[in-house]
Amino acid sequence: MNENALTKQLMTWYAQNGRDLPWRHKGGAHPDPYVVLVSEIMLQQTTVKTVLNYFERFMHRFPTLQSLAEAPIEEVYLYWQGLGYYARARSLYAAAKALFYDYQGHFPDDKAEASKLKGLGAYTLASYLALAFNKPETVVDGNVIRVMSRLYHFTKPVEDMMPEIRKRAEALTDVRHPADYASAIMDLGACVCTPKNPKCNQCPWRESCLSKDLLDVEQIPQKSKIGKKKFEGFVYLISDGKGAVYIRKRVEKGLLSGLYEFPWSEKPMFEKAQDTGVEVSHIFTHIDMRLKIMWLCQQNIKLDGAFVPVADLKNFAFSTLMRKVLQKGGKNLL
Ligand code: SF4
Repeated sequence: MNENALTKQLMTWYAQNGRDLPWRHKGGAHPDPYVVLVSEIMLQQTTVKTVLNYFERFMHRFPTLQSLAEAPIEEVYLYWQGLGYYARARSLYAAAKALFYDYQGHFPDDKAEASKLKGLGAYTLASYLALAFNKPETVVDGNVIRVMSRLYHFTKPVEDMMPEIRKRAEALTDVRHPADYASAIMDLGACVCTPKNPKCNQCPWRESCLSKDLLDVEQIPQKSKIGKKKFEGFVYLISDGKGAVYIRKRVEKGLLSGLYEFPWSEKPMFEKAQDTGVEVSHIFTHIDMRLKIMWLCQQNIKLDGAFVPVADLKNFAFSTLMRKVLQKGGKNLL
């Protein structure tokens, strides 16, 4: 395949079809690297559609690097609530503090220096440098993996094909317009070469693509061989009988760290608790979690939490899983 021709076709398509997004600046580097940093960390493992609901609210509250660096982490969690993967909120917060206090508000445009910032893994580092500084970096996320795998008809498991996928993606990168190219390839994956029902008839690469019109195109790329771990347990809605519910804060490390939760564990915790017959399930990156919602009315709880009036729960940052627990089992508290 002629890489130059493919790159040109994609850039022409992007000029006509690229999405207008609140964090996007067409035609070169974004004038505010802070906007790029926030949006790219939000977009990790999250769709544009979901991020759109949170980005403007977050930027309204934290419009500048300084406003984020000086805010309490509790408030950052509140504005992140619902986006999931809270480690990203902590990383963004740590990066903002480092940039404001250690770098005096100067955003590094050098790869070695930028890689020291928390939250910038290989993909986010490349997108940050490309979108904020127009550096010739190649972004390789789930969208790019899917498009490359289909364009070149890679049928082996993704982890086996990664070096080849990266090589092909680099060969196609428009080094003269890397910011626009990064946006273009992500738009192609998100809007045209979608996981289900790819719109091959709208694709700028349809003439060259080796997977176009194949019946099993949706099976490409072949999923990772690494499965998710299953976790089954119990979650407790504990009422004090006076309109308050028991919550506790998770430690600042590990899964959902720093957020609030209703007590839960793999083994039963309270003998007198009643099974509500309702379950919640949630899929994390590596864990498929299922919890039975248990109900208990008891005032003396020997855990490191506290009773909070049900009406005040909105002031605490909960994970999506815990908000599901409240939504599905909350009627037991009223
Ligand atoms: S032709 Fe179809 S399968 Fe191939 S890259 Fe385009 S949308 Fe994807």
